[in-house]
Amino acid sequence: MEMNGEIKALLVSIGSANIDDELLAEAAKTTIPSAGPGAGLESFFFKSGGHRVRLSINKNSPLRVVRCCTDVAIIKDKKTIVTGKLEPALSHCPEQAYLTLSGRCVYDCKFCPVPKLDGEVKLPDKILQLVDEARQSGQLRAISLTSGVEKSPEDEVKRAVQMVRALRKRYDIPIGVSVYPTDTSSEELKAAGATEIKYNVETMDPEIFARYCPGLSLDYVLTSLEKAVNIFGRNRVSSNFILGLGESDECVLDGVTRLAEMGVIPNLRPISPHPLRAGEVKVERPSAERLLKLARATKKALEDQGLRADLAETMCLPCTGCDITPQIDV
Ligand code: SF4
Repeated sequence: MEMNGEIKALLVSIGSANIDDELLAEAAKTTIPSAGPGAGLESFFFKSGGHRVRLSINKNSPLRVVRCCTDVAIIKDKKTIVTGKLEPALSHCPEQAYLTLSGRCVYDCKFCPVPKLDGEVKLPDKILQLVDEARQSGQLRAISLTSGVEKSPEDEVKRAVQMVRALRKRYDIPIGVSVYPTDTSSEELKAAGATEIKYNVETMDPEIFARYCPGLSLDYVLTSLEKAVNIFGRNRVSSNFILGLGESDECVLDGVTRLAEMGVIPNLRPISPHPLRAGEVKVERPSAERLLKLARATKKALEDQGLRADLAETMCLPCTGCDITPQIDV
């Protein structure tokens, strides 16, 4: 049985699966281990019927992945719900080198583990090396860069601009960038050779934003998105919008409509509670029904504005692993 939007929504709502070590080892063998120690062992990608899903590995999940002839099957309550193939990641996800420049952040968004991790700040040579390793697979279709804010948004944008410039000299494939915006980030990144840009609203509920993203400004992100559409063009600007922080469906529907009217493609992202943030944020992973309802409404909002999520070439929209992506999954 192949995956469709409904089956994917069920898998995404659960978000994890128990997978045999042997199967995982087979998938990991074809994964370039360049995203840091342990990367690729934490989650895996499954593809079926033209849809892709990323599931985290959890021995206690109600889903179990087993071998099934030349494919694998995902089982729930002793019944096979879908069959398909495990898909190798390049750097983070299939077909892309999706790299984090700074794995640290001076801000403290309550749903994000990065400020607690004190992660690596990658030097340009390391990024170039990781992209080159991904290129050697023959499957590299895009480069995507994201970053925490190690010192300041301005400093981080400077780092991203330098990196895009260096990559653009070497690669003729789409480059996407996701950073916290600055007054000149869109102009600078476009001039450096970036193809697409993502500034995350995180939520369109101003009270939830103020509570969970202290020190950041939703209005500033929205203004920056509007400007980004003028610089990068329609279908080239997206924004992550988290589902599960206590926002109402009405807030999501109004929010995606407002973003689409600005020419921005919303990327509805089901929240994944992180152990490092336990007790700091109240989260509820959305049900399959809610995921489908909101994805279908977003599809309509995009189509009303003549926007196409399925034209995106970088970052999460073409990957689709974590979300129900309008015009691809529904
Ligand atoms: S949808 Fe985005 S965050 Fe999820 S696996 Fe794909 S690239 Fe990574």
